[in-house]
Amino acid sequence: MGRVVVVGSFNVDHVWRVAELPRPGETLSGEYRTGPGGKGFNQATAAARAGAATAFVCALGEDAGGQLARALATADGIDLRDLPGRAPTGTAGIYVGGDGRNSIVIGPGANAELSPAFVEGQGDAVAAAGAVLAQLESPVAAVETAFRLARAAGATTLLNPAPADALAPASLLALADIVTPNESEFAAQLRRHAGEAVAAEALGQLDDDALHAHCRRLLPHGTVVVTLGAQGCFVSHAGVCLRGDAHARYRVPAAPVRAVDTTGAGDAFNGALAASLALRPHAAFVEHVRYANRYAGLSTERPGAAAAMPRDAEVRARFGG
Ligand code: AMP
Repeated sequence: MGRVVVVGSFNVDHVWRVAELPRPGETLSGEYRTGPGGKGFNQATAAARAGAATAFVCALGEDAGGQLARALATADGIDLRDLPGRAPTGTAGIYVGGDGRNSIVIGPGANAELSPAFVEGQGDAVAAAGAVLAQLESPVAAVETAFRLARAAGATTLLNPAPADALAPASLLALADIVTPNESEFAAQLRRHAGEAVAAEALGQLDDDALHAHCRRLLPHGTVVVTLGAQGCFVSHAGVCLRGDAHARYRVPAAPVRAVDTTGAGDAFNGALAASLALRPHAAFVEHVRYANRYAGLSTERPGAAAAMPRDAEVRARFGG
C-alpha cells in the first residue's frame, strides 16, 4: 500500500463573510463559521482520501483545537504524529468579502513549535513512505529534517512552497525532488532565488520555453509543477525523460468541473499528487499530474477546504480510470 507522510500545520479557521473587507477602525458584522484548516492538515486529508496510508506530523495545543484535529484524523484514518505544544493550537482569522477577496491573519501557535528533534523521532513513518510532502507553514528546520530522512530512505520529497510570503531557503530546495508553487508562489520564489522580477499575472502569458527556463533556474536538479488554477498546470522536468515521460516540459489541462469554491484546491492537488506517486510508483509522471488535476478539480465543486476533499472512488466515478 502506498504510504505518504505530510509534515505541516493544523489551524482552527475562523471565517467571517462580510459585504466589504473592514477598514482600519471599522467594526462590521458578518456570517461566521469555524472549522479545520492549515495547509498541512488539508493536504494530509487529501492524501488519505485519495487512498494513501497517511501519517501527519504536526504540533497541536492541549486545547479544543487539538481535540478537533485528533477527532478528524481518526475519522479519516490518518496516523496523527503530534507534538503536544505549550502554545495554543494554530488559528487563522479570515474575512471573505462579497467579491470573494479575503484578508487573513494566522496565529501559528503550536505550529511554530514543531521541532527537528520531534520529526527525527518519526523516522519509522518516513522510512516506510513512498512520498513525503511539506509546506512552509511549519519551521523550515523541521521540514529539512523530514526531507533528509526521506532522502536517506529513498522516498520522493515534495515541497509546496506556500504561503507565498514564506521563504524556502536554498538548503531546503536542494532536498526537494518536486516543487509545486502556484503562480504567486512561483513569482515570489523566482524573485528570491533567481533574482528575477516576474509578476505573477505575467507568468500566465509566458510561452512554454520561457516558463521552462524559469523552472530550471529555480530547481536545476528536480521537477517543478506550477499550478495554474482553471488552466491546470505546467510541468518542467530536469531531464528529458522521467518515469516514461517523453518531454521535459508540458501542460496538463484542468479537469472539466463547475467550480463553486477554489479554497484548498492547491492543497487537494498536492495531497493527491503525493498519494498517486506513493500508490503507483511505476506510472508516468504525467499520469500523477492528471490524477491530481482531477482530484483538485472535483474538490472545487464543494465548499470548504479539508471538508471538500473527495474520495478516490468519487474521482474515478466522475472521470473514469
Ligand atoms: P491553484 O492553486 O489555483 O493553482 O489550483 C490548484 C489546482 O486546482 C489546479 O492546478 C487545478 O488542478 C485545480 N483547480 C483550481 N481551480 C480550478 C478550476 N476553476 N477548475 C478546474 N480545476 C481547478
